[in-house]
Amino acid sequence: MNKVAKIYVAGHRGLVGSAIVRRLEEEGYTNLVYRTSKELDLRDKDQVDNFFASEKPEYVFLAAAKVGGIVANNEYPADFIRDNLLIQTNIIDAAYRNNVEKLLFLGSTCIYPKLAPQPLKEDYLLTGVLEPTNEPYAIAKIAGIKMCESYNRQYGTKYISVMPTNLYGPNDNFDLHTSHVLPALIRKFHEAKETNAPYVEVWGTGSPKREFLYSDDLADACVFLMTNYEGNEMVNIGVGDDISIKDLALKVKAVVGFEGELQFDTSKPDGTPRKLVDVTKLNSLGWKASTTLEDGLEKAYQWFLDNVTAKV
Ligand code: GDP
Repeated sequence: MNKVAKIYVAGHRGLVGSAIVRRLEEEGYTNLVYRTSKELDLRDKDQVDNFFASEKPEYVFLAAAKVGGIVANNEYPADFIRDNLLIQTNIIDAAYRNNVEKLLFLGSTCIYPKLAPQPLKEDYLLTGVLEPTNEPYAIAKIAGIKMCESYNRQYGTKYISVMPTNLYGPNDNFDLHTSHVLPALIRKFHEAKETNAPYVEVWGTGSPKREFLYSDDLADACVFLMTNYEGNEMVNIGVGDDISIKDLALKVKAVVGFEGELQFDTSKPDGTPRKLVDVTKLNSLGWKASTTLEDGLEKAYQWFLDNVTAKV
């Protein structure tokens, strides 16, 4: 990927896409293209076709998706499966018909079976039943992975799929109803501190374990793989270590400086008990995450203070 190659980042305003844009700009890539969802509805095949035909990108980072936390996935399953299937199908196929040099598809670790052994190796895909709370989203992402593999096999394209673990960072969704756990906890602890509330409500039992990757690290890995990885097999992206939701809540509490208690709301779902990816393959390709959870939490909280609370 040379520095003047035309690179399309789909989903450039989101947590992942915005981090990829920052990374590419930092590395001196000068020919980036992107569109807001208002300018280009990626669910609409004609609009996507017209965009690819006129812009002719050479590289595509497919970071556009409908995403959400455990409750959002449970409440809007039709939106999750439909929008994701449409977005990725339109882009992958338009990329093929417009001779895109290379495409990177962002999946998710929820594509792995609910009870797969941990850490999750890439070849556990399709070896068991999925977690029901996000099955429609996961099925769409699995379709995207298989679409990339199939286009590579049949058409000789160079499409790669990466499976990031739970992410956090700038431009995260901090809406308490639809967000993932980490941004939700930042907001809850911050608001509890501001209002001197006696406790913060944490969903579920606190015992599930999750792995958290800072979005700038993910972006760094994506640019690294786009430049250095040619294989047809997907690659996990994670830090190789996980933490219980309770311990995460205690860390966020400390970063925010909240003095009260935690209260667990066990009427809310726990979801999958553990989700830690095996990063042997990524490490052997020469990449390792560099941001610690403590540093990432500090940065994410600062971003929240500067961008979310500042606008309220
Ligand atoms: P998941 O990784 O797909 O299960 O999605 P989430 O990030 O939404 O949830 C991870 C875990 O955090 C689940 O066990 C949730 O019940 C728990 N959790 C605790 N408090 C919260 C919260 O305020 N919001 C969310 N989204 N999850 C929470």
